[in-house]
Amino acid sequence: MMLDTGTLRVALALVDLTLLMLFYFITYRRTRSAYSGWWCMALLLFLVGNAAYLLDGTAYQAWTNPAGNVLLVTGAASIWAGARSLRAAAPRPWQLAAGPGITAVASVLDHPATNIWAGGPAYLAFMAVLIGLASRELFLLERDYSRVHRPLAVGAGILATFYAGRLIAFLADGADGAVFGSFFGSAPMTVFTSVTLVVASFTMAELSYEQQTTDLRARATVDGLTGLLNRSAFLDLAENELRRLRRTGTTASVILADLDHFKKINDEFGHPAGDSALQAFARACTGTVRSTDLIGRYGGEEFILLLPGVTPERAREIAADVSSRLQQSGSRVIPRLPTVSYGIAAVDAGPGGLDAAVASADAALYQAKTLGRDRAELAAGGGS
Ligand code: GH3
Ligand code: MG
Ligand code: MG
Repeated sequence: MMLDTGTLRVALALVDLTLLMLFYFITYRRTRSAYSGWWCMALLLFLVGNAAYLLDGTAYQAWTNPAGNVLLVTGAASIWAGARSLRAAAPRPWQLAAGPGITAVASVLDHPATNIWAGGPAYLAFMAVLIGLASRELFLLERDYSRVHRPLAVGAGILATFYAGRLIAFLADGADGAVFGSFFGSAPMTVFTSVTLVVASFTMAELSYEQQTTDLRARATVDGLTGLLNRSAFLDLAENELRRLRRTGTTASVILADLDHFKKINDEFGHPAGDSALQAFARACTGTVRSTDLIGRYGGEEFILLLPGVTPERAREIAADVSSRLQQSGSRVIPRLPTVSYGIAAVDAGPGGLDAAVASADAALYQAKTLGRDRAELAAGGGS
């Protein structure tokens, strides 16, 4: 039985349209994940691109055929962008536009009015490359990122190889050759694409939920205003760190910082100015300490730092550095940045050590406030 390519394309369009509706309304609207957005875009581009090929053999072919090539290559670029969004920032616009742009020029120059394979090599090469890049991105994700990204990476790899095979057969044999016609021509490819779209859509729904979960987890650990760890995330990570330090016998210091007369800043300059002072203090901290130290917003205008391998005396110098960096930073929103008081305690790496150190640092901070503010006090007895 031989189905004609036109009928197959109509069937593919229906499958694609159904998937697009299901994916958009069920997955994208619910997760709003970048990944599912890119996949919706890819489904839409494949739908319109394949529809454009339906006009092959008509008077419109001269422009619908190049348009079909460009839309499908743009769809492949969307798949790459989606895969990359799971791991890093989306590709730059020019990186996404390069493949479609070159395919457009190659197709238009290749007599599209009479040649239904106008720009074929460029189209096939970019499909192989872009889907191959998507496969690579999925392989680069950590093994435990999800249950489905490895099989999806393999699937994308097979599809990319298939397009590379089509390219080689096309170049060696021509569009009318036996190999290209029976294995890589439009009819078998249309069937293959339908199956791939169905499988990929289901797998991608799963990945979109993973991406949403990751975003939620990040939002649950980071303080929205300052970008520092929030209180509970800081305490969790600090406990982990202390377990690690216990094994190596390393000590640590904890610093509690509280901005002085902060209420006055809000009252005098307004709440947004107060917010910018909090952000300036967060920047002064991150700019001063090592990237391996932990910094958290403990609450309101109080901050907490865990400095592994640092003595309380050294921590006092670090606190002074943070304060001077804060004063030097200046601010466009606020005429005067607040001074800061610090309480510092050594952390005993044993169980309960963190709670005890925070309590000691808090007492030292109270001391610093009563002694006139804008200073750092060490907890009595080293804080442990
Ligand atoms: P002290 O020197 O004794 O610490 O005085 P203070 O005014 O800093 O302390 P107090 O605890 O009286 O006031 C803290 C203020 O911090 C009150 C609260 O409105 C403000 N605050 C807490 N969180 C935020 C925030 O996210 N943004 C802004 N702008 N202000 C905040
Ligand atoms: Mg306070
Ligand atoms: Mg305060």
